Amino acid sequence: MNKIGYMCKKSFEQELGQPSEVGRVYSNPKALQAACQCVAQCGIVEVRVELVEVVQETYDDEEEIK
Ligand SMILES: [Zn+2]
Repeated sequence: MNKIGYMCKKSFEQELGQPSEVGRVYSNPKALQAACQCVAQCGIVEVRVELVEVVQETYDDEEEIK
């Protein structure tokens, strides 16, 4: 399952792969521009979010995360 989204270019370059939280991904560039004024300076990248594996369906499951 792949999803296309849009995020701040600077956040993508600086935060992806880092332990800090990755910048939010928006469904379209206009929503990103409205929410993040920084993109005027940072730029915008189109990203593909790929679901690799469902590790836990919900946190209500009785099984604990191993
Ligand atoms: Zn930014």
